[in-house]
Amino acid sequence: MRKTDYLIVGQGIAGTMLSWFLMQAGRKVIVIDDAKANSASRVAAGIINPVSGRRFEPAWLYDTLYPFAEATYNQLSDLLKVPVFTARRLWNIFPSQQMRDAFLTKTTGDEYTELPEVLEYEQWVDQPYGAAVVKGATVNLRALLPAYRQYLQEQDALLSEHLDLNALELTATGVTYGNIQADKIIFCDGVATTGNPFFGNIKFLPNKGEVLLLKIPGLDTGDIIKKSITLVPQGPELFWAGSSFIWDYEDDHPTEKQREILEKSLQQLLKVPYQVQEQLAAVRPSGNDRRPIVGLHPDMPALGIFNGLGTKGCSLAPFMAAHFTEVLAGNARLMPEIDVNRYFNRLRG
Ligand SMILES: Cc1cc2nc3c(=O)[nH]c(=O)nc-3n(C[C@H](O)[C@H](O)[C@H](O)COP(=O)(O)OP(=O)(O)OC[C@H]3O[C@@H](n4cnc5c(N)ncnc54)[C@H](O)[C@@H]3O)c2cc1C
Repeated sequence: MRKTDYLIVGQGIAGTMLSWFLMQAGRKVIVIDDAKANSASRVAAGIINPVSGRRFEPAWLYDTLYPFAEATYNQLSDLLKVPVFTARRLWNIFPSQQMRDAFLTKTTGDEYTELPEVLEYEQWVDQPYGAAVVKGATVNLRALLPAYRQYLQEQDALLSEHLDLNALELTATGVTYGNIQADKIIFCDGVATTGNPFFGNIKFLPNKGEVLLLKIPGLDTGDIIKKSITLVPQGPELFWAGSSFIWDYEDDHPTEKQREILEKSLQQLLKVPYQVQEQLAAVRPSGNDRRPIVGLHPDMPALGIFNGLGTKGCSLAPFMAAHFTEVLAGNARLMPEIDVNRYFNRLRG
């Protein structure tokens, strides 16, 4: 038998961060991941946006999450020798005069936003109502995830395969899976958790996003350009363009219908030609209250979950994983807003 403290299912951004902080705390982990090509983390743009909504209100816990995320990604960047975190401007184009007025009368979030002195990108994009500049960032998931996977492999802490729930056995001291004996198993398997009977109480509201990868000849910028569609730089002239929010979907593959919708938004935004190189789709693991879903099962404490990162995996995952690690070590009490017990009516006062 191979013994470990934690068996972690999934190496998206959730499993990456949780395994990292557990190892930093001296715990033994094995991560099992089937490398699904269209998992949320492999399709996401990795944007960290400090504000949301008509009035550009600051995102939940942003002042705590952002510096923690920046420090964690930079630490991993140094270790893995890949570029991970980039502070970027979000060039946020107002879709209407009302939205511009709403921005001008907002009373919070000023430290993250400003009106630019000069309207840039005039040659490239249609922006009759102007734009605001938002101070955001991106996380290069396409570099981070494979580099961290390689690191896990070097630590002999990776099983590159699919976990079959039927082969999982609960024992008096934890769980066994094949030849692995673990004190706890933590599900960081994104939207796959919706089919996990141990956590059937959780009210998930998964939603699908579709994306185009584009070439825009001549456009070379480090800024994110955002209107009804968001362009995220991927290299000279290359952009991630998305994404849609679809609540009612048949499967997690790209569709012709969403391609048409995305292209319509692109044509409304861009004054120049573009070439579509690829279309991607994935499902976001969101809970009904849009808060992370974290903790141990109230009746089966060998089972845990780290999920529900929704649209904000890149900003939430580092801090929440570090917090969960402290909770598992008995050094902190889980924040009630993220506690999985809320779905079992077991929140303590
Ligand atoms: C189109 C789109 C755009 C997005 N843009 C952004 C953005 O700009 N910024 C942002 O912060 N967030 C964004 N998100 C949201 C973000 O992607 C998610 O919050 C985050 O990726 C969720 O990570 P996760 O690790 O929980 O799940 P996932 O990324 O889904 O990872 C789950 C992992 O578990 C593995 N797995 C599942 N079941 C098993 C099993 N039985 N055995 C073994 N392995 C298994 C999968 O292969 C996968 O690697 C976007 C999402 C989408 C879909």
